[in-house]
Amino acid sequence: MDGRRAIPHIAADSCKGCGLCLSVCPENVLAIEAAQVNLKGYFPVSVKAEENCIGCLSCALICPDVVFTIERIDDHLEGRDE
Ligand code: SF4
Ligand code: SF4
Repeated sequence: MDGRRAIPHIAADSCKGCGLCLSVCPENVLAIEAAQVNLKGYFPVSVKAEENCIGCLSCALICPDVVFTIERIDDHLEGRDE
């Protein structure tokens, strides 16, 4: 075990770069990727510190565009804004 509890997966082309997920992530896992533009023409969110994710699902719950799938390492449950 390396201590990680969850892995955030991002559908970057669905992101509109609103920043809501960054504001609620308690572990500072996420960042806006300003070096590239997605298919919608936005700067998409990216994972900058995957190892810090605790699987709280806050990002998935607040995202209006269903960008996140959170893979729980301990029990393999998935959380999603559906
Ligand atoms: S699940 Fe929680 S800790 Fe992980 S990226 Fe989302 S808001 Fe941050
Ligand atoms: S809340 Fe959703 S749409 Fe907004 S920046 Fe985060 S992933 Fe992108």
